[in-house]
Amino acid sequence: MNKSKEENMKDFQILIVEDDPAVSILTRDLLLKEGYKVMAVFEGKDGLNALKWEKFDLVILDLGLPDMDGLELCAKIKEDPLRKDLPVFILTARGSSEDIVKGLEAGAEDYLPKPFNEREFVARVQAILRRRSPLPPKDDLIVSGKIKLSPSSHEVWCSGGPIQLTLREFDILRVFLSNPGKALTREDLIKMAWGPATAIVPKVVDVHVGHLRSKLGPEGKRVETVPQVGYKLNPAK
Ligand code: CA
Repeated sequence: MNKSKEENMKDFQILIVEDDPAVSILTRDLLLKEGYKVMAVFEGKDGLNALKWEKFDLVILDLGLPDMDGLELCAKIKEDPLRKDLPVFILTARGSSEDIVKGLEAGAEDYLPKPFNEREFVARVQAILRRRSPLPPKDDLIVSGKIKLSPSSHEVWCSGGPIQLTLREFDILRVFLSNPGKALTREDLIKMAWGPATAIVPKVVDVHVGHLRSKLGPEGKRVETVPQVGYKLNPAK
């Protein structure tokens, strides 16, 4: 029997790796209220064990864990061929741009500094999980040369095959495709891909654009650095 999208969302199981009991309980309760299944552990090694035995759709990860650095755990997940597509959402008091960049380089899907807004937390979790919901493809493709993007199913194809982008890479590509040939500043990209009220450092944009370029293969060369300005997507030849 076909389940509605709403029902599918509720089948998601989320692992919380967080040693601060207050944050662990808060995030667990917020996610339970949304109808998700939740398992919470306090240490990195328990997180790794849980990942071995249970199937998860998302990991909420603290960086300052008692037995290991959360970035190390993130890297372990991303190195594992069975789990590399499992999204990791970093939630931490370490809010420096260097830590954010490190987290994204380690393959994290998203990053939220503590203290965080509860609604923003839930919205970001939903956005990550929405991409994992099976959705029927719709006829709403944005096409530019060999790049095709479907906003409704959150899928991207490049040079004939599907490619896996993180949520941010997807949003940035969508901004590029909607503004062909236009030079965009890092601030423009943040405003359009993250939303107007986001405190993201411009350097983070460079990390995402770098990943996006390499995932697009030869088409990535169309994403051009515009000195003193930012980036633009050149039209297909
Ligand atoms: Ca901690």
